[in-house]
Amino acid sequence: MMLPPPRDAAGWRGACRWCRSLPLRASALIALVCLTLIGLEAWHEWSARDTQLREAETAMANLARSTVQHAEDTVEMADTAMLGLVERLEAEGTSPATLERLHRLLAARVAALPRLRGLFIYGEDGAWLATSQASIPPGANNGDREYFRHHLNTLDRQPFLGPPVRSRSEGQWIIPVSRRFNHPDGRFAGVVLATIDAEYFARHYAAYDLGSQGSLGLLRPDGTVLVRHPFDENTVGRSVADIDLFRIHLPRATSGAYRYVSPIDGIERISGYRRSSRYPLVTLAAMSRHEVLENWRGGALLRVTGVAALAGVIGALGFRLTRQISRRQEAERALAESETNFRMLAENCSDMVSRIGGDGVRRYVSPASSRILGHAPEELVGRHAQEQFHPDDLPAVHAAGAQLSSGEVQEATMTYRTRRADGAEAWIESRVRVVLDQKTGAPDGVVAVSRDITERKALEATLARLAMQDGLTGLANRRAFDSALHREWHRAARDGAPLSLLLLDVDRFKAFNDRYGHQAGDECLWSVAQAVKEAVHRFGDLAARYGGEELAVLLPGTTMAGAMEVAERVRAAVQALGLPHLEGGPIELVTVSVGVATITPLVDGPPPARLVAAADGALYQAKHDGRNRVVVAPMQPGFDPAPPAGPAAAWSLATT
Ligand code: GH3
Ligand code: MG
Ligand code: MG
Repeated sequence: MMLPPPRDAAGWRGACRWCRSLPLRASALIALVCLTLIGLEAWHEWSARDTQLREAETAMANLARSTVQHAEDTVEMADTAMLGLVERLEAEGTSPATLERLHRLLAARVAALPRLRGLFIYGEDGAWLATSQASIPPGANNGDREYFRHHLNTLDRQPFLGPPVRSRSEGQWIIPVSRRFNHPDGRFAGVVLATIDAEYFARHYAAYDLGSQGSLGLLRPDGTVLVRHPFDENTVGRSVADIDLFRIHLPRATSGAYRYVSPIDGIERISGYRRSSRYPLVTLAAMSRHEVLENWRGGALLRVTGVAALAGVIGALGFRLTRQISRRQEAERALAESETNFRMLAENCSDMVSRIGGDGVRRYVSPASSRILGHAPEELVGRHAQEQFHPDDLPAVHAAGAQLSSGEVQEATMTYRTRRADGAEAWIESRVRVVLDQKTGAPDGVVAVSRDITERKALEATLARLAMQDGLTGLANRRAFDSALHREWHRAARDGAPLSLLLLDVDRFKAFNDRYGHQAGDECLWSVAQAVKEAVHRFGDLAARYGGEELAVLLPGTTMAGAMEVAERVRAAVQALGLPHLEGGPIELVTVSVGVATITPLVDGPPPARLVAAADGALYQAKHDGRNRVVVAPMQPGFDPAPPAGPAAAWSLATT
């Protein structure tokens, strides 16, 4: 099977873009409607005009026919009157008695036939023999007239219609119709003449309404004007043999219609003509084309104006409609574009974007949820946003949520723990913003941008731990110790509980450094710290590096007796390390001296420094007493409980 050749792809695309453009299609449709409307109206008007012109041609042809009929009747009537006279003249001759009788007959005939102007009988020399007039003018002779010479020179017995002549008797234009009469031997005896007043036709023609520029004429086939309406004496007898009627139309057909531009006044006319079959007569009826179309023009102007206005209204409405369609499409395109942009932002954002309704249920979740929570968006949509939150974090989340929904704030940051799909705990930070309903302006849920901060949290915890830990020994550092002392001091004051403190100092450590080097000194310190840490195992006890090679052990809720016990355990543990220290005194091992103080602090009483000072005093005493021993500080004045009896030194324990 043959497939049609592939069309140029760009061509298709171009065409389809055009097809798809709604405003263009709407414009094309409106233009088509307007053009069709205008086209139909133009066609209708054109055909109405054509009909009007053809009707005018028919009317002119009919008028020519009826006027030629009228002219034939008139000539026939005159001829009939003459026929009888010819008969009598040929039978009775032209004796005075006959002529006398005929004179009366002529007068009676003319009186009976108003179309006739006069009846005349001329003798063979042209002299008047009888007339319908009252008397014969003396010496009157018509031998020079064309009709007379025609009859004189031709044997033809037919009536002769001559060119119009001006009456000798009365001076007006007349149309002569004549017949010859003969002597009994056939010689020419004279002429009988009937005259028809040219104005008679003019009056008759004036009854037709041909407009101000119409005309109706009676002519001879040779182009001589017999009479013309509107009547003008100057036109009578003139030859118009050069007009189209005689040059073109009459030679072709004896009747018809045609249009022409008048060479006289330049007016275009529609005319109908007819040639008589019986007499040498032609009638020509004409109307100005302008006047024929006058009625049509008035109506057409009204209709065309109406249709043009209608087309204008349709066009204007269409234009507005197209513009609206165009604007709406533009807005839709912009909306779609911005939606695409926003969707692209949400979908490609490494943070998880969620849209959460006022009921706390997720409406939309971006694909980043798979990476952050291990759940595909469709697993989360439709579920409550706080389903997997750690219960400990819920109060803070609820408090922030309450602030948002009350309108107090528009934006809040929430940090909470939740469960990932694999069961692991994840720290999430969500930046939450209230969404307002576009129509009502009321809060309509929130948009949350969430990110996984588990690593950051772990780092923070490590940093926090490092910030409170001593780098060399791994014990709590001085800052951690100070804050614990402060905290425990006040708690003990609130609870009315005792708080004990051990201050340890490595004996003759300067000498150790000097002998074994600083590096060995550090290692020694680390070992001492581990021994201390292991010797202090009650929850709440805190071993810290107080400074240099001095350590501190805080023992909350521990009485003096308990503290002494711990102090001795610590001291013994260090000694038990067995770290050689040739400069370290009699046993040549690394040892520590311990100062112990116990105070039950008072609310609004002296600060915790008192406890440190007391322990420091006891430590000083232990050094002074020979080192590697525990010395308990005496009771601090104003504190409870009462210290054990005896001097502070009595509480020092010699270990050697
Ligand atoms: P005493 O028995 O009276 O305490 O004598 P001592 O030499 O230990 O005297 P003191 O406590 O005044 O000495 C402190 C010395 O401890 C000074 C310094 O050389 C040493 N020292 C302090 N901190 C460190 C440390 O972090 N590392 C090392 N290697 N040595 C330290
Ligand atoms: Mg020291
Ligand atoms: Mg020391």
